Amino acid sequence: MQKLYHTALCVCIVLIATGCSDNESKLHQARLVAFGTLVDISTWGVDDDVAEQAVAAVESTFNKIDHTWHAWHPSDLTQIDTQLAKGEQVELDADKIAFFKKAMRLADASGELFNPAIGKLIALWGFNQDDRPQGPPPDPAAITSLLALHPSMDDLIITDTTLKSSNPAVRFDFGGYAKGYAIDQAMAVLRARGIDNAIINAGGDLRAIGVHGDRPWRIGIRHPRNPGIIASVETSGDESVFTSGTYERFFEYDGVTYHHIIDPRDGYPAKHTLSVTIIYDDAATADTAATALVVAGPELWQKTAAQMGITQVMLIDDQLTVYMTPAMAKRIHFEIDPPPKVIIGDVS
Ligand code: AMP
Ligand code: MG
Repeated sequence: MQKLYHTALCVCIVLIATGCSDNESKLHQARLVAFGTLVDISTWGVDDDVAEQAVAAVESTFNKIDHTWHAWHPSDLTQIDTQLAKGEQVELDADKIAFFKKAMRLADASGELFNPAIGKLIALWGFNQDDRPQGPPPDPAAITSLLALHPSMDDLIITDTTLKSSNPAVRFDFGGYAKGYAIDQAMAVLRARGIDNAIINAGGDLRAIGVHGDRPWRIGIRHPRNPGIIASVETSGDESVFTSGTYERFFEYDGVTYHHIIDPRDGYPAKHTLSVTIIYDDAATADTAATALVVAGPELWQKTAAQMGITQVMLIDDQLTVYMTPAMAKRIHFEIDPPPKVIIGDVS
């Protein structure tokens, strides 16, 4: 599925296509716009009115999360940024503390390749706005001086109710995590309504539970260079499938393309990787790991995946060579002819 350009504004239902496509089908499909992406919610096996109410509840969950965690529209997060930069301690509710704690744990596990404390750096590149940045790329001296301040999730001092930062250079950008978090919350909303067969798909990033009638949910994985999909996979039980791709947000300047996944080690867009697909239980971890492994690239992906406890990875490099774990290779079905060159590498 094609991602919409990242205009992350409101969350609104633009279409509800209810109902039954064939005789005994209990498939219900709805579409929202959330986080600048079309979100398709499919349920199977529940009555339309139950499904419609569940979709409305998911819509308000997405709305709330967008208002809480948006990185540049005025939000609870931008408020937290301001207070922490002044050295203040912030009181947070249990949900927000859990959100931060998980992000801190994942950042640490990724060896800080996933580093949502680099909001200033992301802003310097212009990726903290609704419109596509126009360039030019930042002044190298500005990148160097931001890197020298080393903003990291390690700078946070967190308790069960409070948050403080020891580094005023910390500014958050949860663009690589909040969508996964939101999908996890939304899936909990469906579960609480007795829905056991569903898929929440935000522009190709998704969590699926149960089955689609008598068959599994089948997912397409976007080709990182060409229109259409490169591969498909069937989900089983309760799984999240997330892809981070350099094609999602980028700008061109003087014939050079600059994309939105920034390597915190050198401050520039990550090199050598076009996309990474992760399959993992929860969506927040899958989202984060996909972003981190784009930064890790062909050299470091196995080490980083192992640290993060991820065993199902597909990384596509800039030569269109596909690197996969054995666990991923068992499930991936290529949809292009001829299939790509594949290198299998384990993470243990
Ligand atoms: P995703 O599409 O999930 O890979 O997320 C990409 C978004 O994550 C970017 O648009 C930034 O908002 C943010 N981001 C970019 N680089 C990093 C990084 N190294 N660590 C954490 N977040 C990042
Ligand atoms: Mg991500």
